[in-house]
Amino acid sequence: MELEIKHSTAEYLMSLEDEFGAHNYHPIPVVLSKGKGVYVWDVNGKRYYDFLSAYSAVNQGHCHPRIINALTKQAQNLTLTSRAFYNDQLGLFEKRVCELFGFDKVLPMNSGAEAVETSLKLCRKWAYKTKGIPQNEAKIIFAKNNFHGRTLSIISASTDPTATENYGPYMPGFILVDYNNLDAMKTALNEPNVAGVIIEPIQGEAGIVVPDPGYLKAVRDMCADRNILFIADEVQTGLARTGKLLAICGNCTCENKCENNYEIKPDVLILGKALSGGIMPVSAVLANNDIMLVIEPGTHGSTYGGNPLACAVSVEALNVIEDEDLAGNAKRLGIIFRNKMQELVDQSELVVKVRGKGLLNAIVINDSEEGEIAWNICVKLKENGLLAKPTHGNIIRFAPPLVMTEEQILDCCKIISETVLDFEASM
Ligand code: PLP
Repeated sequence: MELEIKHSTAEYLMSLEDEFGAHNYHPIPVVLSKGKGVYVWDVNGKRYYDFLSAYSAVNQGHCHPRIINALTKQAQNLTLTSRAFYNDQLGLFEKRVCELFGFDKVLPMNSGAEAVETSLKLCRKWAYKTKGIPQNEAKIIFAKNNFHGRTLSIISASTDPTATENYGPYMPGFILVDYNNLDAMKTALNEPNVAGVIIEPIQGEAGIVVPDPGYLKAVRDMCADRNILFIADEVQTGLARTGKLLAICGNCTCENKCENNYEIKPDVLILGKALSGGIMPVSAVLANNDIMLVIEPGTHGSTYGGNPLACAVSVEALNVIEDEDLAGNAKRLGIIFRNKMQELVDQSELVVKVRGKGLLNAIVINDSEEGEIAWNICVKLKENGLLAKPTHGNIIRFAPPLVMTEEQILDCCKIISETVLDFEASM
């Protein structure tokens, strides 16, 4: 034990992960031991702005005191019952989520991927029991370059070889279309036995790809015309990240408080990540009774899904989003951020584009070295006190906690601009 403490340097801790952990990630070389609000600290006490927010799970900021309070209070009473029994937190969570997002029912799960899986199962079951598609013939449409998680069925619809190679055989019943291409979507929707379309309102892992205005509404309308379920995966874009409670904001109770992005309501809504404020895995699938009630007792579930600890944490995580108007803050700061990054695009040969909504943004690097430049810029950003990570090689995603202040975002824009320009000068 003493030996371990003596060697508890960043290098030692990284070497442990390297030696004993599976090599399924390639982290930026920094070892974090503390987080508060928009900041994280490494084991040597160096402070950084967190511009990843654990892939948008920490929208409420690290260790938000209200959510931690809810966690510790509930942890002393009851943490897990399984769904074999009722618990005194689940119903309260379900009511809160359903009322906030304007749906009849919610099905709680844990990870985002599990919620996506749940939505696919729900869609298939609805197809057979309600729509009348012949058994085993149901098809679900996905967009190319999607990211919905890592399970076998989800990667079966992935177009990213890194996610799929050597993991076959793949799940049948999926159709792939170009994102943001209405003709391609229409052709696919007209195929026989289509049960649903699953879509990210902004493609996150693909590099913050924002569709043209009107695209999602047109897809939604085409689905409604054909009795096909429109499933919105808001695991990354949801919960105030893009400047709205939902990127695809529709008929929910936030309607009067926030201006809707797309004026659309999906048939099925998938939430995850920030549903717990980065405290623990909590995800959810929402739908109205005509869809959700096709699932009967015993036909789907999860031991931890809907556990009282997760429910108490999640209710407080949602309260924080509303009480602190994180959507409004993300919208306001997002405009400042993109304006500053546009100035960088104008000054730099290396940064060719900035795009995004709210505080889900990315810069595109003119990277002739297949992602190496973007990676090296992120390493320099780290040295300068800001943590970000490339997604898809030459794209750097910037997604800080939504509790950021204007002064902080301006400071961050300065760090990013100076780092990129210094890097460019040294090339
Ligand atoms: N769906 C989307 C849109 C995501 O961005 C992600 C994760 O990044 C997932 C699903 C999967 O979530 P999890 O990693 O919690 O399984």
